[in-house]
Amino acid sequence: MITLDFAGQKADASTRRALSDLSLSVAKCKKIVVVTGAGISCSSGIPDFRSSDGLYALVKEKYPDVVLKGRDLFDASLFRDPTSTAVFYTFIAQLKQSIDAATPGPTHHFLQLLDSKKKLLRSYTQNIDGFEAKAGLLGSASQEAKSNGKGKSKIRTKEVRNVQLHGDIHRVRCRSCSAEYACTDEHLRMFNEGIAPDCPECLERAEARVARSARSIKVGSLRPAIVLYDEPHPLGDDIGTIQCADVSRKPDMLIIMGTSLKVHGLKKLVKEFAKTVHSAGPSSPSKAKKWSGKVVFVNRTPPAAEWAGIIDYHVVGETDEWVGKVTEDWKKMRPSDWEIQQTLVATDGDVSMNGNFKVVASTKTKAGKDTKKKPRKDEENVPPPPTAMVLSTPDITSLPVRDVFTPPLSPSKRRQATSHYSVESSPSKRRTMPPLKKGLEDGARGLLFAAKKPDVSMDLYDDMNDLSMQSPPKAKPPKTGRAIRVGA
Ligand SMILES: [Zn+2]
Repeated sequence: MITLDFAGQKADASTRRALSDLSLSVAKCKKIVVVTGAGISCSSGIPDFRSSDGLYALVKEKYPDVVLKGRDLFDASLFRDPTSTAVFYTFIAQLKQSIDAATPGPTHHFLQLLDSKKKLLRSYTQNIDGFEAKAGLLGSASQEAKSNGKGKSKIRTKEVRNVQLHGDIHRVRCRSCSAEYACTDEHLRMFNEGIAPDCPECLERAEARVARSARSIKVGSLRPAIVLYDEPHPLGDDIGTIQCADVSRKPDMLIIMGTSLKVHGLKKLVKEFAKTVHSAGPSSPSKAKKWSGKVVFVNRTPPAAEWAGIIDYHVVGETDEWVGKVTEDWKKMRPSDWEIQQTLVATDGDVSMNGNFKVVASTKTKAGKDTKKKPRKDEENVPPPPTAMVLSTPDITSLPVRDVFTPPLSPSKRRQATSHYSVESSPSKRRTMPPLKKGLEDGARGLLFAAKKPDVSMDLYDDMNDLSMQSPPKAKPPKTGRAIRVGA
């Protein structure tokens, strides 16, 4: 394993060269798998929930007699007790409100950039904040990912760009029938009071039974659709299928960012991908494609000893800084990639001012293939077709207002183009986001938030690290999300 100190690169020529080689790998590889953890959301301004006005304090105010511990708060056994259930709901409501007020950071936008350049084979995240979706990547937990629009159906493997290993805080799921819904303001209001909303699907069934004088059934309640300790992932089978499919497509690069790699299920996933990526590397005699086959780990703290021989490079630093450098280098190394981006932007009915001219497309155009290369068989890597570009002054007023699922522009372009009509992407707002918590060790970060006291938060972080699928993706969990049947 080669350790590259991001901050010290200026002083050291070999570090500089190695970092630049990694940028070239990103620029040249075509099937990149990215695995992420809490570290990539640190810069998104999630408040410190352990500080006096933090989430813990708010929960403590509501439930003064309850002793709070990270592990207890996220263990499936919490449903056995009405009070711990109420505390959990209140905590999640507070946490979701903080997440709703925050925006994705540079690393989330980088993932979307890789996807828009047809380089992202798949993103896998431990985070439940849903920032990848806000940045434009379809998540496995989303409604759009369901093959027939219903909660319990299979997910659309091809369309899913981000696999949410620990669920999604923006979704709710029925504890009885597993029906899933988006978490609404009303749900949030009730959760905040420690109350669980009734499941609409169960209600409907119960009313129908009453109408035909059948014996009534119990109506299930809705809970946050995140994965707790000792609880199988409700989409475990689907995730296993996606992972197998991705391994069989032989990814050419693995990037691991902002995670300490301590969770059992995640370790297995990373090791499997690393093995495949290494086998995709150049065989010694032919030096062709020497940029491929690398496993890169970007994190403030080093990985455990068990990762020697699996991780090739440890970039010591913030993920936001590293993706910034990669993007910068990539633009210099392969400027043609960025010309294509202008057409991509145009297909979105958006405006770009990259370079010396403006690109406007008034109508949506279908994606297809690139001019330079023949279309490949694996569709996900086929670049879009050239689009007719209209060189004119952008008609700002006719532009559609973007919602959260519309892929945003790359960070560099956002600053130039979108501030006219999108408050969220306004450059000034982005600049006023709280700075990174630079003084903290990686272990001092929570799953989604940084804590002020490393000593207290370390154990929480360790706990949160265990907040994983207890069954690894390939194992067979019980049928869809029926692990918890408390009171059922
Ligand atoms: Zn239900």
